[in-house]
Amino acid sequence: MNADDIPCDPFVTFGAPDIGDDEAREVMATLRSGWLGTGPRVASFEAQFARYKGLGPDHAAAVNSGTAALHLSLVAAGVGPGDEVITTPLTFCATANAILHTGAIPVLADVDPASMNIDAGNIAARVTARTKAVLPVHFAGRPCDMDAVMAVADEHGLAVIEDCAHAVEARWREKPVGTLGDYGCFSFYASKNLTTGEGGMVLGRDAQKLSRIRSLSLHGMTRDAWQRYSSHGFVHYDVVECGFKYNMMDLQAAIGLHQLKRVERAWEARKAIWNTYQQAFRGLPVTLPAEVSPHARHAFHLYTLLVDEAACGVARDRFLERMTSQGVGVGVHYTALPQHTYYRERLGWKPQDTPVATAIGRTTVSLPLAPQLSSEAVARVITAVRGALA
Ligand SMILES: *Cc1c(COP(=O)(O)O)cnc(C)c1O
Repeated sequence: MNADDIPCDPFVTFGAPDIGDDEAREVMATLRSGWLGTGPRVASFEAQFARYKGLGPDHAAAVNSGTAALHLSLVAAGVGPGDEVITTPLTFCATANAILHTGAIPVLADVDPASMNIDAGNIAARVTARTKAVLPVHFAGRPCDMDAVMAVADEHGLAVIEDCAHAVEARWREKPVGTLGDYGCFSFYASKNLTTGEGGMVLGRDAQKLSRIRSLSLHGMTRDAWQRYSSHGFVHYDVVECGFKYNMMDLQAAIGLHQLKRVERAWEARKAIWNTYQQAFRGLPVTLPAEVSPHARHAFHLYTLLVDEAACGVARDRFLERMTSQGVGVGVHYTALPQHTYYRERLGWKPQDTPVATAIGRTTVSLPLAPQLSSEAVARVITAVRGALA
């Protein structure tokens, strides 16, 4: 049978969120409470997220996206015009854009081919007198080698901002990611391990800087709106600097509170699927993800195969088409940043300057890994991969 003839119903969606009745009930209760904006549910979500990460409530600030979390962390770290921030080419555009929004220039350090994470040796090679910070991404949920990253940062006095958008559950040597550097930035976008629809969180080592981030997320005001209108009486606010409109709503936190309760169960489910794929694809001409380092707890956000045409007899983009035509949604994480027009034109980036990330970006395919996937759906994904390679 031709791979394209396999019946394709129902479609296995890529990145489908796992929303339960608890989330639905809490959203309804929030709507009926009359308080939709930043209020008690956001405060509770911050405190519970901080506790999950082993921190006190003064070390977490909820915001309205992962991009906002990155931007505010960079501002709080003192990054601005004239500075350089070293980051990875194998990431979502938001990582580089957040750096550009501060007026600083992102500088790329290529990734390690096995971990697909930024390579500390390459970071060291890109440090200049203008370098102010390093922005590693825990790609696919696999923690970066934070011993090596922190050693380079400490040697050169650089701030470390961890992009933990894929890595809520990850740990490096038993320490939760996002607590190893100066700031940890999380995304709760719809396809992430923990979702609030749109949303984000900043973790910070320094409670005073975190308090500034909280103020910056609401116009640079000294007190947030739910304190102003609480039953304790009217309190005037003062604008102490020009901030942003990056606050999270209680409606979003209502979802996040219950996603957080299930975060470990969902992690177990994705881990099982990840391991099933890893077994099933052994012996195929694709490149599988590296096994997990004994020092790391992988968050299992993405399961990515490399489809190299020379080895597989099918081009990556043709493979993507064959997967969707068999009813399986797929993703690409990521086309390396230097292949995008804006960065090429504005910053002069060339794909050949970060050859490892470019090669991964040209061959990578992400398979469905949502925790609620049935074993039948997982079996269909496996059959579709074999069919697409045939
Ligand atoms: C999703 C993502 C972001 C941005 O998060 P948003 O919540 O969509 O703003 C940043 N970095 C990486 C690696 C991401 O995957």
